[in-house]
Amino acid sequence: MRKFKNKKYAYISEVFFSIQGEGPFLGLPCFFIRFAFCNLNCSFCDTKEKLNKAYKISLNKLLNLSKKYKYITITGGEPFLQSPFLKNFIEKINKFIILETNGSIFPEKTFIKTLKRKNIALVISPKKEICKVIKFWKMLEEDHNIKVYYKFLIFNRENIKKYIKIIKEFKLKNVYFQPVEFKNMDYINFSKKCLLSFLKEKDIKNLKVYFRPQLHKILKIK
Ligand code: SF4
Repeated sequence: MRKFKNKKYAYISEVFFSIQGEGPFLGLPCFFIRFAFCNLNCSFCDTKEKLNKAYKISLNKLLNLSKKYKYITITGGEPFLQSPFLKNFIEKINKFIILETNGSIFPEKTFIKTLKRKNIALVISPKKEICKVIKFWKMLEEDHNIKVYYKFLIFNRENIKKYIKIIKEFKLKNVYFQPVEFKNMDYINFSKKCLLSFLKEKDIKNLKVYFRPQLHKILKIK
């Protein structure tokens, strides 16, 4: 997937107002901006159909749409694919931003400076090359004092064990476990199974890890 260079226009899939349904800011009413396209192609992706339904929007229009909201969630797709626009947007808006990313596209130095200056929380949900991704964002958290949260998608017990190892190795704080949703599955039942597996792990007793299923999927809202 090519990276986009335009600073004044972006491709987005949708904008909407709802509650944040997952991760550290669960329940917070937010204005959502879903950037189109992704550099990954996860089999469990729950936004696949939306990602390629892109429409072009100008910076001014997006700033205008965002202005009446206090909290903005930028999600995707992968927003960092459109880094020049994303940086420009973040610089021009004075709101609390929750920026959700798979973490695999690392921002350049000037973008890191912008992230540092702004009221922003990065929610990293790594899907591939997980250790490499964590290492980079952990460095950003420590060296640049940027607020970083980690959201791990869980499928089964093995996968929970793997993440616990990573949390310990990198001494991660602000960690959220989220049961993944596959098409046509009973999400509530699956979440219960994941929770039981989560609680069986002996190391969980000594770690600050939150178990948070996706609230919008349980409530069947957007
Ligand atoms: S990284 Fe996220 S948006 Fe991209 S394909 Fe995977 S699940 Fe979908």
